[in-house]
Amino acid sequence: MNVDFLIIGQGIAGTLLSFELLSKGYSVIVIDKIQTNSASNVAGAVLNPIVFKGRKNATERNKQIKIAVDTYEKLGDKLSRAFIRKTTLVKFAGSEEELINLESSTGLSAVKESLSASPDMEVAEYFYNTHGYISVSPVWKINNQHLLSSWRNFLLQNNLLIEEHFDYSDCKIFPDSIKYKNLHSKKIIFCEGVGALADPFLKTDSFVKNRGDVLIIRIPGFKTENIFQKDYRLIPLGDELFWLGSNYRWSFETLEPDAEWRTHTEKALTNWLKLPFKVESHLAAERPTTAGQQVFASHVGNHQHVFWLNGLGTKGFTIAPAVIQNWLPELIS
Ligand SMILES: Cc1cc2nc3c(=O)[nH]c(=O)nc-3n(C[C@H](O)[C@H](O)[C@H](O)COP(=O)(O)OP(=O)(O)OC[C@H]3O[C@@H](n4cnc5c(N)ncnc54)[C@H](O)[C@@H]3O)c2cc1C
Repeated sequence: MNVDFLIIGQGIAGTLLSFELLSKGYSVIVIDKIQTNSASNVAGAVLNPIVFKGRKNATERNKQIKIAVDTYEKLGDKLSRAFIRKTTLVKFAGSEEELINLESSTGLSAVKESLSASPDMEVAEYFYNTHGYISVSPVWKINNQHLLSSWRNFLLQNNLLIEEHFDYSDCKIFPDSIKYKNLHSKKIIFCEGVGALADPFLKTDSFVKNRGDVLIIRIPGFKTENIFQKDYRLIPLGDELFWLGSNYRWSFETLEPDAEWRTHTEKALTNWLKLPFKVESHLAAERPTTAGQQVFASHVGNHQHVFWLNGLGTKGFTIAPAVIQNWLPELIS
């Protein structure tokens, strides 16, 4: 079998790349071994135009988000589903000083829009609110698990996905083509997230370890469309389920759930949320993070037909669509 592109990995990177290349008429095969605790599956997947702390480049961030929103809508149209919804993020201040800083950071957003549901009532009814809050509208929530599984089903139905671990020893790179088992491809793109550490073609030492823990909790009686954030983000998933996270741990050996973090987080939530809650599950995932938050969208070494898209770090859902849009002309040339 001959194809134009072989893509390794179907996280958000491999999903969006395969979508864009197929939309442009190229033939593509994706190889992915399903991993329920991949970064893309575990992510909160929020597109937030406001950076509350650290470096701020509002113009760049707004440009990336505009491209992202268009892309997720286009992908939804293709599969006749909705993968993205517009909402409000309610950010609580931990002190009066933080509230002043938050208010000035919202002034940097070029995209401002009042959504109909004001969060005031929900804040008063459901949260302890000592120092005030700001609300950011719109932000966008991607239904990441629905998006990844729907795209996977589309690829499977069209015989475009091989569900297996890509065996690097079966891959031969020739001067102008790739051979993998019985597949011949003009180009290959590695999108393995942290799986790239086992990829002998990449030989990279650019990654820094970074994991995040997440609790999936049930809050009976709490019906909301809004996202709430204080020490952690509380994101409604529907059916009274909420995503609560996350942390950034830089030193770890395994992806075993961090019991200490869970205890601390449950306590923080009890001091913030007035309603009782129940933890349904505790997940942990490793982010594909690089030193200096460098994103790789380029060819590998001297091979002009071997590429990788990686290093999406803490913001893959936000930045991947823009990275891909800028990179496509080089990729298909
Ligand atoms: C807790 C948490 C919260 C986050 N929240 C946000 C957020 O709110 N907004 C945002 O924009 N970003 C967020 N992110 C970041 C985002 O999730 C990542 O940047 C993004 O998912 C990385 O996608 P990826 O496709 O590069 O890698 P991955 O998601 O890791 O996907 C890689 C895929 O490749 C497959 N694979 C690897 N090796 C092989 C092999 N040899 N053979 C076959 N398959 C292979 C894996 O199984 C996997 O399916 C968050 C991340 C975490 C962990």
